[in-house]
Amino acid sequence: MYYQRNREKCLLKSANYRKNNRLKVNKEQRDRNAKVKYTTLSHYSNGIPKCAHCGFEDTRALCIDHINNDGNQERKRLLGRNFGVRGTFICNYLYRNNFPVGYQVLCANCNLIKHIEKVKSDVRLRELELAKVL
Ligand SMILES: [Zn+2]
Repeated sequence: MYYQRNREKCLLKSANYRKNNRLKVNKEQRDRNAKVKYTTLSHYSNGIPKCAHCGFEDTRALCIDHINNDGNQERKRLLGRNFGVRGTFICNYLYRNNFPVGYQVLCANCNLIKHIEKVKSDVRLRELELAKVL
């Protein structure tokens, strides 16, 4: 009620606070993102965060993987684009939506290897389809 009646005043006060306390606000945001990332990785690892393929545990190189390779469609649906999306976005999205199914934790190496294998597989499928047509 107070906020609705004094929205402009509250927004100005909040913007001034952020401007005058930038280092503190940035640190709080980094801490919040780190907590959300750790919680999300822990959930999808069923405990201590680790890669579902090789067991690597350094959270700096762990990421969320779309098990069905539909990350591009999800990014387009949620953001209207498939570029410029940071890992904090997907972790925050999963955290806020109570950890939906269809995701797993992979290390950067296993995630890249999965991507390369998918591209190779797609190329093989296209070659087979072309061979049928010709
Ligand atoms: Zn791995």
